[in-house]
Amino acid sequence: MKKYNFNAGPSILPRVAIEETAKAVLDFNGIGLSILEISHRTKDFENVLNEAVSLFKEILSIPEGYSVVFLGGGASLQFCMVPFNLLNKKAAYLNTGTWANKALKEAKYFGEVVEVASSKDKNYCYIPKEYSIPQDADYFHITTNNTIFGTEIRKDLDVNIPLVADMSSDIFSRPVDISKYALIYGGAQKNLAPAGLTFVIVKDEILGKVERSIPTMLNYKTHIENNSMFNTPPVLPIYTAMQTLRWLKNLGGVAAMEKINLEKAKLLYDEIDRNRLFVGTANTEDRSIMNICFVMKEEYKDLEESFMNYAKSQGMVGIKGHRSVGGFRASCYNALPLESVQALVDCMRSFEKNN
Ligand SMILES: *Cc1c(COP(=O)(O)O)cnc(C)c1O
Repeated sequence: MKKYNFNAGPSILPRVAIEETAKAVLDFNGIGLSILEISHRTKDFENVLNEAVSLFKEILSIPEGYSVVFLGGGASLQFCMVPFNLLNKKAAYLNTGTWANKALKEAKYFGEVVEVASSKDKNYCYIPKEYSIPQDADYFHITTNNTIFGTEIRKDLDVNIPLVADMSSDIFSRPVDISKYALIYGGAQKNLAPAGLTFVIVKDEILGKVERSIPTMLNYKTHIENNSMFNTPPVLPIYTAMQTLRWLKNLGGVAAMEKINLEKAKLLYDEIDRNRLFVGTANTEDRSIMNICFVMKEEYKDLEESFMNYAKSQGMVGIKGHRSVGGFRASCYNALPLESVQALVDCMRSFEKNN
């Protein structure tokens, strides 16, 4: 049966990126060897890394003065690397969910952390808007897309201290004005590549300002100066990332992608709002276009398991909500076709009819 892949992460990738990766695993560039068994210092692989970085910069229109590096350790290691490199005395964090909270906790190892606002009071169903950022903080940290709670900051914020963003689950989903950010990072496994790859976009001039010494591997400068080749980078995920970025460029880049993402999100949110059985969990104005969370209305709660089973029988995969929200979460990343969202909507309609 056809599967509709709504997994939250690792998650759906463009079919062509998976096929090209499979080919390179068997025979890379016709050299008669697998990409898995050659040195990362070969010309063949260096070309892959360079193309991936250059597509990254081109597709996101990254201005001069910024570097893109590929690392290991996931977004979770960035929770610590960011303050290690940027926090001298004080940092400001916006607490919009589980990941934001984890980032905030790590920063406390390095200095004073101000939580400028939190939406924990309502189980993170909204993005706080009214808050003031201490102007003497070294940076302000946000999580643009809250993968678990389905809220998103889709407008690039104007703040007058360096802005740092975890974009693990919405990078490449829309155009971003990079010049408004000092640093953007994320795990690649939501919208770009298989797990094991972390990307960091960093404005060069913000580095080198902290007083502490930074261990070599945790220092962004090490990786910038060595073009992400200080040590062995995650070779295979970088190859897939390059393929995903080629696919995205062919499709028209992030502006075209955003249009498609908005269309997909509208289709599903319209059905959630129309359907008598379901209700969305995120505040309407803060709804994520990547992770769409919904539950059964209070009076239909006992139908939850039955809908889950029905959806599964129709080929839906990965729609179970995170335990901290419950219900359902449909992750509609870049590679998810509109047709999959339509299939889920059809499912919700026929389930409504039969119940
Ligand atoms: C998935 C996710 C993370 C965690 O990423 P790892 O690569 O597993 O460390 C962090 N932040 C956000 C927003 C995420 O979606």
